[in-house]
Amino acid sequence: MSQKIAGLKKEFQEKDVERLRNLIQGKHGEKTHSSVGFTKKEEFHEEGDIWESDGRSWTIKDGIKQNITKLDKAKKAHIMPLMCPKCKKVMKNRNDKPFYNIHKMCFNCVVDFEHELQKAGKFKEYQRKIKNDELDNRIKEFKLWVNEKLNESNESFVSEAGDVEKWVGKVNIEKTEEYVTGVVEYLESLKV
Ligand SMILES: [Zn+2]
Repeated sequence: MSQKIAGLKKEFQEKDVERLRNLIQGKHGEKTHSSVGFTKKEEFHEEGDIWESDGRSWTIKDGIKQNITKLDKAKKAHIMPLMCPKCKKVMKNRNDKPFYNIHKMCFNCVVDFEHELQKAGKFKEYQRKIKNDELDNRIKEFKLWVNEKLNESNESFVSEAGDVEKWVGKVNIEKTEEYVTGVVEYLESLKV
């Protein structure tokens, strides 16, 4: 199940960056395209670089110029405590991290918990809830991501090829909303 959703997420990342760029840009003809690998200030930056500009720290992640603070926040959301909140044992099994990210407890606790649910005949209901919760999160993340992209639409994008692209056109709100609605409807339709 989670593999399918992970695949879905990857699909979004690549396809949607392109799609959103086109929507944000408005008109193709108004795109300005500078030399390969250079930002506005003619500094060379590539994937993983960190630099200061406009009083903020920036980096290039997945080919897109991003504000560091945002990335830090996203990272903190995945920090795992040393001990399982449920059984208080140190989480050192390699399965602990992926299980903690979803269930907020260690692998063994999840196994025990699911065994209890099976005995009580509630396992299917529980699986459905996990899948639907994950889709709800995906929808929430997607909306946040779109908003972020819209807010930085006047910034430079660094494409996968390292080109810097600056969009001059206006955001096509109507088309963007239509697109977001389509993606959300699709994700909702995956619910069980
Ligand atoms: Zn535990």
